[in-house]
Amino acid sequence: MLTEYKILSLAGNSIPVEETGAAVSVEQLSVALPAPQVKIIETKRVEGITPLPEAELVVSGGRGLKGPENWSVITDLADELGATTACSRPVADVGWRPHHEHVGQTGVAIRPNLYIAAGISGAIQHLAGVNSSKTIVVVNKDPEAPFFKAADYGVVGDLFEVLPRLTEAIKRHKNA
Ligand SMILES: Cc1cc2nc3c(=O)[nH]c(=O)nc-3n(C[C@H](O)[C@H](O)[C@H](O)COP(=O)(O)OP(=O)(O)OC[C@H]3O[C@@H](n4cnc5c(N)ncnc54)[C@H](O)[C@@H]3O)c2cc1C
Repeated sequence: MLTEYKILSLAGNSIPVEETGAAVSVEQLSVALPAPQVKIIETKRVEGITPLPEAELVVSGGRGLKGPENWSVITDLADELGATTACSRPVADVGWRPHHEHVGQTGVAIRPNLYIAAGISGAIQHLAGVNSSKTIVVVNKDPEAPFFKAADYGVVGDLFEVLPRLTEAIKRHKNA
């Protein structure tokens, strides 16, 4: 039903910041809203982590992790950065990670400032959900992995060596 009230909402990170050089001023509006017709009974928020669509920093793992027992290399790096974790679809399909972490064509579409992808090949269906990220860092032991073509920075190496070293380097940098 069309009403006189229009609501505009924007997903976080959906519009990049652009310097135009124009002078702008912020105007405070006082709007008298009618009594709501919808009663909110309960609001549940995931505590502690930024939901993927709003995340500025994302660390993501794929089948290259070999199993859920190895996920600490992803979560340790994410904790150090204050990042949200994500995964490729097969990882969620086999139950290594929850489905809400799966990014791509059939999962969540994200556009963080930084997307770190480890052990993910970079299939077109995965890229469809992540290629609007501002900076993409790919860690893969296969130099021919298609993800490198979409990467801003690439590390050809074993993620089980590279990620812990990256985590340690960030820890040192934060403590310096
Ligand atoms: C209709 C359809 C929709 C789909 N939608 C999605 C989607 O939304 N999201 C999605 O992700 N996929 C989706 N897929 C699946 C997609 O096509 C790929 O199969 C999937 O993305 C591959 O996941 P992966 O990269 O984790 O695994 P793999 O393709 O198996 O890649 C694993 C990678 O890890 C690397 N690796 C292995 N060991 C190491 C190591 N020790 N160190 C570093 N690198 C290592 C390998 O070199 C390889 O590149 C979809 C497919 C279809 C058909």
